Amino acid sequence: MSKRDYYEVLGVSREAGQDEIKSAYRKLAFKFHPDRNQDDPDAESKFKEAAEAYEVLGDDGKRQTYDRFGHDGLNGNGFSGGFSSNEDIFGAFSDIFGEVFGFSSGGRGGANRPRPGADLRYNLDISFREAAKGAEVDITIPVEQECDDCQGSGAAPGTTPEVCPQCGGTGTVQQAQGFFRISVTCPQCRGAGSMISDPCPECMGRGTVIRDKDLKVRIPAGVDNNSRLRLRGEGEGGTNGGPPGDLYVVIHVEPDSVFERQGQSLIIRREITFVEAALGHRLEVPTLDDPVNLDIPKGTQSGEVFRLRGLGLPHLGSAHKGDLLVEVSVKTPTHLNKRQEELLAEFAEIEAGKLTTKAKGFFKKAKDKVMGE
Ligand SMILES: [Zn+2]
Ligand SMILES: [Zn+2]
Repeated sequence: MSKRDYYEVLGVSREAGQDEIKSAYRKLAFKFHPDRNQDDPDAESKFKEAAEAYEVLGDDGKRQTYDRFGHDGLNGNGFSGGFSSNEDIFGAFSDIFGEVFGFSSGGRGGANRPRPGADLRYNLDISFREAAKGAEVDITIPVEQECDDCQGSGAAPGTTPEVCPQCGGTGTVQQAQGFFRISVTCPQCRGAGSMISDPCPECMGRGTVIRDKDLKVRIPAGVDNNSRLRLRGEGEGGTNGGPPGDLYVVIHVEPDSVFERQGQSLIIRREITFVEAALGHRLEVPTLDDPVNLDIPKGTQSGEVFRLRGLGLPHLGSAHKGDLLVEVSVKTPTHLNKRQEELLAEFAEIEAGKLTTKAKGFFKKAKDKVMGE
């Protein structure tokens, strides 16, 4: 197969200056960089072809030789007519860019097939209260979107992708194989049927750009830690008319200093004195809204749990709410003064007396029963 004209490869005129040649090569190298076109085997040869053309046209001496004698003039003239290895190409590539680019894998790649956009994941930290009450949170995510300047065509504004001269827009060419002619993917346009000679400067011919996108995320009340919210169609944009991906917002709920969560129930722990436990007590209990009063009955034991119905967390998508559970523990008094100790000793004596009386009463009853028979 005969070699393409180097000016044609770079898409510049024969009068083009060095800046124009360099800029044209930059665009092509960026567009066909193999890292960005992993699923497109033709991209690498495009990339090499552009590099080779730039190697010649970017050098005044070689360019003069080429202008006078064409491709033949370069053979045996210290120019190998290509790069011996990928390393050479990437050497030339990083020379011109002055840095190494971190391309994302995947990229645009192959032909005009519609491709769905990728799903994205966003980790969102919210407070316990936001999870309990629901909230609207603003987030900003970088997404790959269709380039506005070229409407995704990759061609500079005011221009359109041209019909491929080699295949006439069909995307395939005929090749002779012995007696047969077979159809193969057009090497010039990689099957797209069209070519971009003047790439859109905004997106470097990719057709897509990375943009920050502001989104409102509605957190439903009662959401639990590690829940995933799916925002349909808010992922990366599709290409060639493919549907966009989805955005998954993964919720991380910060623990609360007051409430512990168990399903849709809230648990709080409160200490009461042994007097309060014995005599009963009105306890003020915090809730997600205003505090409420809880009447602890006489004779409450340590570890008893009181249930306040409907003061827990809402079930997702329902008006029904869980409960608030209050676990009380009885605190044994310390650092008693003399008077308190006396009173407690007296209390103990009475308790002992009550037991004796009870025991006496039992025996008396038992005796009466025997006697009554
Ligand atoms: Zn563009
Ligand atoms: Zn073609």
